[in-house]
Amino acid sequence: MAFFHLLNPHDESHSAGRAGWLRAAVLGANDGLVSIASLMIGLAASGASTSVVATGGLAGLSAGALAMAAGEYVSVSSQVDIENADRAKESRELVERPEAELAELAGIYRDRGVPDELAWKVAEALHEADPLQAHLRDELGHSEHSAARPLQAAGASAASFLVGGLVPFLGLLGGSSTTRAWLIVLLTLGGLAVAGVLAARTAGTGVLRPTLRVVIGGGLAMAVTASVGQIARVSGV
Ligand SMILES: [Zn+2]
Repeated sequence: MAFFHLLNPHDESHSAGRAGWLRAAVLGANDGLVSIASLMIGLAASGASTSVVATGGLAGLSAGALAMAAGEYVSVSSQVDIENADRAKESRELVERPEAELAELAGIYRDRGVPDELAWKVAEALHEADPLQAHLRDELGHSEHSAARPLQAAGASAASFLVGGLVPFLGLLGGSSTTRAWLIVLLTLGGLAVAGVLAARTAGTGVLRPTLRVVIGGGLAMAVTASVGQIARVSGV
């Protein structure tokens, strides 16, 4: 089984790929929750009116979603560039010096613990089947399933930021300004707990610790921006 995975890690990368995608979505939602809630709490603590808090939240929501999309697009695009350059370089090398490439592949399997003779056999068999794919996968760690899509990644992270960032707005339904502030805090902590549990489930780790980390981190962020807002109020900014 271990040997099989060594040569063909595909069924692992299937779930790892999906987990990566879900993880990115959960992280985007976390970002939206924490940054928009902190922004609104900070504004509320400064004594701003509800309409200012709502407007600030909306501005933050669009700015954050766009920043997430742009950042993700740039990062995934450069990943694509790197993968394409790798692909071109490997194809060229396979044409120019096939023997050296074969030895390189055999060396990779030997380093992973495959006995020398078997490592050569495996490398030869893979070179006969699809040498480029074998090098991209086993030398460079590419996988067909991990093929990066910049636009999809940008859209997914903007959308997940929006979903998370809309939650604190529900707090504006509270009656008094104090109720509104506490509602924002409670809804955000609840949302972070849900996101934390989802992230832990997806990663297949324990639930309590990562969830507590996320909730405490979010609580701290809101406490800090509340203090900043209060300082602004007291100093009459
Ligand atoms: Zn190579």
